[in-house]
Amino acid sequence: MDQAMLSVVRAVEAGATTMKGVIDATGLSRLKIERALNALEKQKLLVRDGQGFRATGLPKAPRPTRECGSCNACCDILEVASVDKPVHQLCKHWQAGTGCTIYERRPQMCRSFVCAWLQGHLDDDWFPAKSGIVVHFSQDAVNVTVDDDCPDRWREEPYFSKLCEWSLNGIRRIGNRGYATLVVSGVDRFLLLGRTIVPDPTLFGTAFLPLTADTFRFWRAKSQDHLHRLHERIAEIERIRQEFGSCTIPDDDDDDPYPPYRPALLHLSNHT
Ligand code: SF4
Ligand code: SF4
Repeated sequence: MDQAMLSVVRAVEAGATTMKGVIDATGLSRLKIERALNALEKQKLLVRDGQGFRATGLPKAPRPTRECGSCNACCDILEVASVDKPVHQLCKHWQAGTGCTIYERRPQMCRSFVCAWLQGHLDDDWFPAKSGIVVHFSQDAVNVTVDDDCPDRWREEPYFSKLCEWSLNGIRRIGNRGYATLVVSGVDRFLLLGRTIVPDPTLFGTAFLPLTADTFRFWRAKSQDHLHRLHERIAEIERIRQEFGSCTIPDDDDDDPYPPYRPALLHLSNHT
């Protein structure tokens, strides 16, 4: 996906539903946007219908009827590099009583940002000023950023169950419509696999296997090749499960497998 397509997807996910809305949000020419829209439609990542443009990778927003009101969580919790704003530090351009003092010339990221609560995906328990949690969608992820005043809030209810639900939806979607559920809390990062929390997920990816309807066994890959081998072994575990009804899952010490996987798995499972 090229940069123009990425910008268009972000604009649509942030609430732009018309050509004018996408032009305003991206600053791209009509021609570039039209090309990106066509390519996204071909890849089934976007639909154009009577209601305008809609990204298909993540849940569709109900009608956006909310306003930020007293909230300034995204101007505080999130990083905005273009105004030198680090995470968890109120932006220098935000002023009590005024709000953003550079509103007319605020950077593109601020213009296009809409959190999931404002979009109507979440109920009022999630109002960011109250919950300390800012949720926003990117093309292939639900991003959850937690205020460092309440770093474990996301583990509490009703938040955790909702995040698990989203995570399971993202895992069950197939092909390029799947998405990850990522939590950033202070310096800690987590990937959610249903109710299973993966700390410090690596850039190479996480291989996982369902244990129950909402829990998973996972292996964090140390390289592309490692991820590939983990996936190959998971496929073999699933074949053995189908064939014999069960397969013992290798423990932590054996997290860097090499082929052939089948003999070791059969031996471990006593299927000889
Ligand atoms: S976090 Fe959401 S509700 Fe709060 S100011 Fe930002 S967009 Fe508005
Ligand atoms: S520039 Fe304005 S909108 Fe952007 S983070 Fe700062 S105060 Fe918020």
